[in-house]
Amino acid sequence: MFLSSALITVHLENLRHNLKTLLARHPLLMPVIKADAYGHGIVAVARVLAEEGITHMAVGSVGEGALLRQDGHTAFLLALLGLARDEDTAIAANYDITPLVHNRESLQRILVQSHLTGRPTPLSIAVKFDTGMSRLGFRVEEAADLADYLRTLHEVHPVLVMSHLAASDTPALDAFTHEQAKRFLDAAASMKAVFPNIKTSLTNSPGLLCWPSYVGDLARPGVTLYGGNPLHGTDRAKLGMGLLPVMEMAAPVLSVHPVEQGATVSYGCLYKAPRDIRVAVVGAGYADGYPRALSMRGAVLVRGRRAPILGRVCMQMCIVDVTDIPGVEPGDTAYLLGGPGPLSIRPEELAEWWGTISYEVFCALGRNRRVSEKKFSEYSRRHES
Ligand SMILES: *Cc1c(COP(=O)(O)O)cnc(C)c1O
Repeated sequence: MFLSSALITVHLENLRHNLKTLLARHPLLMPVIKADAYGHGIVAVARVLAEEGITHMAVGSVGEGALLRQDGHTAFLLALLGLARDEDTAIAANYDITPLVHNRESLQRILVQSHLTGRPTPLSIAVKFDTGMSRLGFRVEEAADLADYLRTLHEVHPVLVMSHLAASDTPALDAFTHEQAKRFLDAAASMKAVFPNIKTSLTNSPGLLCWPSYVGDLARPGVTLYGGNPLHGTDRAKLGMGLLPVMEMAAPVLSVHPVEQGATVSYGCLYKAPRDIRVAVVGAGYADGYPRALSMRGAVLVRGRRAPILGRVCMQMCIVDVTDIPGVEPGDTAYLLGGPGPLSIRPEELAEWWGTISYEVFCALGRNRRVSEKKFSEYSRRHES
């Protein structure tokens, strides 16, 4: 029994392709698989990464890391959210997950907890510096003092020093990125002076694509792994080309019927038919993460052609114009993301209609029921014949 008629699938071969493309840019990657691998399914994605020889992965919560350990992974696992809850310290220790530590308070929490549990081995930590995001991180100015302090602690063992770029996808803000990189080098130098073997990591996907010299030891690509191009719409877009989209979303056509000239379509009567048209009702809406913001803006792919959305997107349905697409009938498959052929709906395109970025498209649509590629294509064939 399924609660929704919308389905997604994840093309793991495309993930492999993207990974290899990125490995050609930098040999040591720590792929970012937070938020259920940007909606692609963390367990399946991590298995592919491990098969491809990846030895470092960045998850979001400590819980995501524990899930991967339970699935048998031996890779180095960094938890980007750090120790968000009291119980996370014990989970990180038990499952050998390296939390990001970003301020004195988060460090203190580990010390208190390890005294409580009397753990003999130090917890590996990643030390995060704020070089311009004003999100998580120690101030760069305190790097030297912090390194000296960390040296006195036997409860923790710093293995990674990192920071995060705020604007590496925005050419107009290059000066900001250069300043961040400079600050990071300062912080990393202070840490290295005390911990000579500590590894460094600065760049996300756009940073890796645009500024390979800023990467440090480990690059942290996320969206590019899933085929998103973070430089889309900039004059550097070509640096992110050649990546293949990994996620696809489909829903069945529920009804096909004529709408007479002058009649209105969907809530609020936003769309008024300028002539006699034919519409298809597609079984996906904002309850499936396909946002109401796409009302009058989006399009789906039916029988290899684009069918524009008419009027408001509803909770579990949307209505599209199929006047110029012959043969559409109930049971056909409508692709909301991806789809076969040259008119396939690209993540950036959907994001643009939506007023967001490919990252949010993946996370939102990725909450739908995920089926194997085989099931997905059987389902699609059934609905296309
Ligand atoms: C999400 C995230 C990344 C990956 O960013 P992309 O732009 O998707 O490559 C890297 N580092 C940190 C700290 C992140 O939170």
